Amino acid sequence: MIGACNCGSVSFEITGSPPSVYHCYCTLCQKQGGTASNAGTIVYIDRFRWVSGESCIEEWRKDTGFSSHFCNVCGSPVPNIFKSQYVWIPVGLVENLNTQAVANIWLGSKPAWAIPVQLERNYDSAPEDLAEFIQYLNLEKIA
Ligand SMILES: [Zn+2]
Ligand SMILES: [Zn+2]
Repeated sequence: MIGACNCGSVSFEITGSPPSVYHCYCTLCQKQGGTASNAGTIVYIDRFRWVSGESCIEEWRKDTGFSSHFCNVCGSPVPNIFKSQYVWIPVGLVENLNTQAVANIWLGSKPAWAIPVQLERNYDSAPEDLAEFIQYLNLEKIA
């Protein structure tokens, strides 16, 4: 699977079967995306590689540890490596991603005007066990 930002400067590849998607309704994602929620997934770092544009990536970090990585040419959010073993992927960048949304997180802070569809898992805040959640997103799905 290939992903790229709006201008094409930053591009990357994910290997293996398509990971599932979650929607995050936290207030940080609302501001970062300018919308109700952020659609993302998290893959293990061995399934991810940069194809181009790593040098175009700008980072903004909040005191709390939240960080936003974006293309310094077009402003698209781009993947973000964390805990040196995982990569957060803004899934809107991935071409023809044939997968399903399985979880909503941070529903407790969704804006009044958003109407989330209930998915297989629905969390009021963050999943308690991040490693388990990431494993769940990467479960091999039967087509
Ligand atoms: Zn760009
Ligand atoms: Zn969020």
